[in-house]
Amino acid sequence: MLEITGLGKTYEGRGGVEALRKIDFQVADGDLVCVVGPSGCGKTTLLKCVAGLLSPTAGEVRVAGRRVTGPPPGMAVVFQEYGRSLFPWMTVRKNVELPLREKKVPAPRRRELVEGALSAVGLADAAAAHPWQLSGGMQQRVAIARAIAYEPQVLLMDEPFAAVDAQTRAELEDLLLTLWRRLGVTTLLVTHDIDEAVYLGRRVVVLSSAPTVVQEDLAVDLPADRDQITTRSAPRFAELRAHVYAQIRHAKGRTAGDLTAGETAPARQAPSPAPRDLSRETDGRTR
Ligand code: ADP
Ligand code: MG
Repeated sequence: MLEITGLGKTYEGRGGVEALRKIDFQVADGDLVCVVGPSGCGKTTLLKCVAGLLSPTAGEVRVAGRRVTGPPPGMAVVFQEYGRSLFPWMTVRKNVELPLREKKVPAPRRRELVEGALSAVGLADAAAAHPWQLSGGMQQRVAIARAIAYEPQVLLMDEPFAAVDAQTRAELEDLLLTLWRRLGVTTLLVTHDIDEAVYLGRRVVVLSSAPTVVQEDLAVDLPADRDQITTRSAPRFAELRAHVYAQIRHAKGRTAGDLTAGETAPARQAPSPAPRDLSRETDGRTR
């Protein structure tokens, strides 16, 4: 479903920032793959290239065999900053409905999809509220509802749970797994959180720090049914996470200790200095 081949991205200006050197991996139809790497290694850049919001400087991305040159149809994106991804003056219902209007879905079907998505994320009662009346976790659930109402073929998520508290985060992780199992949507999720990547992913693609390449493409051989307590306390879970930690440490060692903050960084990423991209984010969150 997703083919990322020789993908490279160098931002222009100040001699050029090489965010991605050469990224190669694929995601099969219906799979759930997590990409993990230290802060600043180019995860958001990678996701924006896959979403067609940024054009790569080398290589290509294909979705269902077609080369991505702009936002592909049938793709939804959930960004980290729920606060900026919802329109404050629109109700929850209107926020979820907006991409369906743009997709020209007829009104009765829109209503069905919006109601279905809101109840799937446990927010049926909040349809008439405004985003600012909701907690952070609830706002991020609205963003997830908006993505699934769109019935995407491919769902991209950029650190979607990084800004909520630990309890909410665990709940949202399980919500994602439930929805993924039910809908079978091909999902690519990037995170700097190694435990989260192993817990959610059927595969974990480990990125090195800059110059960024795929350090490892790891199959997660944990049982398909995951549970916060059972899965996270399984010996195999501990082995896998230790393995990924070692890979990332190894990758950092190789690049002479730049990005020392990566592994220990709190759940916030460096702000992206990209006015052009940010403006697109603000109005093109979910398509
Ligand atoms: P991550 O999401 O893994 O934290 P990013 O993809 O945001 O990493 O950034 C990767 C690198 O590219 C960083 O060095 C960052 O400073 C740089 N970068 C990101 N966006 C831009 C931009 N629009 N212009 C220049 N440099 C950028
Ligand atoms: Mg990022």
